[in-house]
Amino acid sequence: MQKVPTFSKGGVHPSDKKVFSRSQPIERLPMPSELLVSLSQHLGAPAKALKAKGDTVKRGEKIGQASGFISADVHSPVNGIVKEIRKVTLANSVTCDAFVIVPDTEQDAEPTETFDWKTQDSAQLLAQVKDLGIVGLGGATFPAHVKFSIPADKSVDAFVVNGVECEPYLTADYRIMLEKGDEALQGAMIAAKIIGAKRIIIGIELNKVDCIEHLSAIAQSKGYPIEVMGLKMKYPQGDEKQLLKATINREIPSGKLPLDIGAVVANVGTCYAIYEAIVLHKSLYERVISVTGECIAQPKNILAPIGTKVSDLLAFCGGFSSEPEKLVSGGPMMGFSFFSEDTPIAKGSSGLLALAPQKKERTTVCINCGRCVAACPIGLMPSHLYRYIINGQYENAMQHSLMDCKECGCCSYVCPAHLPLVHGMKTGKKLGRKKK
Ligand code: SF4
Ligand code: SF4
Repeated sequence: MQKVPTFSKGGVHPSDKKVFSRSQPIERLPMPSELLVSLSQHLGAPAKALKAKGDTVKRGEKIGQASGFISADVHSPVNGIVKEIRKVTLANSVTCDAFVIVPDTEQDAEPTETFDWKTQDSAQLLAQVKDLGIVGLGGATFPAHVKFSIPADKSVDAFVVNGVECEPYLTADYRIMLEKGDEALQGAMIAAKIIGAKRIIIGIELNKVDCIEHLSAIAQSKGYPIEVMGLKMKYPQGDEKQLLKATINREIPSGKLPLDIGAVVANVGTCYAIYEAIVLHKSLYERVISVTGECIAQPKNILAPIGTKVSDLLAFCGGFSSEPEKLVSGGPMMGFSFFSEDTPIAKGSSGLLALAPQKKERTTVCINCGRCVAACPIGLMPSHLYRYIINGQYENAMQHSLMDCKECGCCSYVCPAHLPLVHGMKTGKKLGRKKK
């Protein structure tokens, strides 16, 4: 029997918990009464405000200008008025300036005119990806135009689309693949044209067999040169390093990038955004977000304007069915806990989870069981690193490759002593960097 591809080192198998929202088609959120559109919703330098208090804005209009090499433009999600610019705190604890926009009662119709991407060369396509504010929608929010700018001394032969969505609960990518599959595949072909990749592969885990069948059927009937690859379920397969090992059997060496092994990876939601940018000339001002978890009354997959407050998403889902222990932005393994329902969503917000109280486990000392070592997909020694970090020996931790840690949480997930290992890694990386 043929082996189902996956990555080789470490990984865990959390229950996928996608049952809450997987059967819910994407619904558009009714227009909120106010949006908080932040200037820092991508990796890199915040954008520079192009509008001021009292200015009118149009949907899709650029309102923030990228301010560095790694930065991205920000666009208005609505026709409306800038009530003010004020500080907001995002779910990832970043505090930054945001436009407070009051939408008009009348909004423009959705763009319907289409443009042929095949007649444009890769430089034209790349310029539009930059101009329309596309960033990685899987959570990393790396500006797409930077990722797709291939240096002259490098070449790329493989473009790998991440359709894995291996974090429990999340179903936004799943719904995009089912409902916008053709568009997402065309977006993948556009991205491959920009970077000059001949081979396009989309990796999807086997808990989404319907997506594998659906996208395979589209690719076959339309003659798209795309391989749809079913992957064994294993977390964190959505990470670039694990996904490239699983799909094209290449390893990224420590400190290197996918580009160094001739590959570029992008999330399937990003491919859909690229399609909309190039074919509809639509900037990235809205996204699909899963609002789910045990405590959500009616879990949904929602197409919401960037800047929507969590309170508006919760209201659209009928509020809480029971009191959650915590709200999480993103997935439960790598997402961020936050408290305020005034928090706005940003380009990287793939999920909003309201999680039920968990049985409190008592933390004990490390029993040297080695489970964290076996689970680490990077091959690190989490127990040793943790010991260095709690003893303030950051240099030792750095020498033992702490900076290679992906903060995936596999070590914490398996630790029978319930040690906050991933929290320790995050702190160690932050303090270790400062000490350098
Ligand atoms: S959080 Fe870091 S140390 Fe822990 S398993 Fe993931 S990569 Fe390894
Ligand atoms: S899994 Fe926990 S108890 Fe086991 S070796 Fe790692 S840190 Fe120690």
